[in-house]
Amino acid sequence: MDVAFFASWIEEAARTVSSDRERLTALDAAIGDADHGTNLDRGFTAVAHALGTADPATPGALLTLVGTTLIRKVGGASGPLYGTFFRETGKALGDDAEVSVARLHTALQAGLAGVRALGSAAEGDKTMVDALAPAVRALEEAVRDGGDPADPTDAAEAIGAAAAAARTGAESTIPLQARKGRASYLGPRSVGHEDPGAASTALILAALHAVAT
Ligand code: ADP
Ligand code: MG
Ligand code: MG
Repeated sequence: MDVAFFASWIEEAARTVSSDRERLTALDAAIGDADHGTNLDRGFTAVAHALGTADPATPGALLTLVGTTLIRKVGGASGPLYGTFFRETGKALGDDAEVSVARLHTALQAGLAGVRALGSAAEGDKTMVDALAPAVRALEEAVRDGGDPADPTDAAEAIGAAAAAARTGAESTIPLQARKGRASYLGPRSVGHEDPGAASTALILAALHAVAT
């Protein structure tokens, strides 16, 4: 996976965030302040513009730029959290021009660690971590269970497992009571709704799977 692959991922993520903007905002209307779709769409629109202007040379530089742009452009909780996620993932990729699935896994793990350090949410707190952590775990399992790391079909399968785990993880937030972020102010009234940040994480990973296939 080269810099063009990562550019397509982010383009596809921007496209799905934009087309699912109303759904994400509706999820946030139920347990937050009805701005998650708008926040992310604004952020990814700025990201698309930044990537068009800067034309980063490596996957690491590209994801780092995605992160800094999201931090700059997205208000609210999700901006710094997604910004940190992409920036830490990018930093972990270093200067590599070509990224294997195994390398992608360790980088995403660094991204997840950044989100955890910043937001101090554990799994089960009804946040984006409930989608991201199982996705990183699924990717780790797929890498460990073998397949040819250089085979694009095997890579796509591994990424597909991660995307599926993110979607299941997002759905798993429905019966949970929020313990972090704005939704936690609702207490038991946060139960029965999918967490918007977990839903957007599932979209972002689905975009990664779409471009890997
Ligand atoms: P805000 O809540 O400031 O309006 P958004 O609506 O854009 O920001 O994002 C809300 C999402 O951010 C939540 O659905 C949740 O997934 C995520 N979130 C909030 N706080 C945390 C946290 N401490 N750790 C991880 N994710 C969090
Ligand atoms: Mg919100
Ligand atoms: Mg807000």
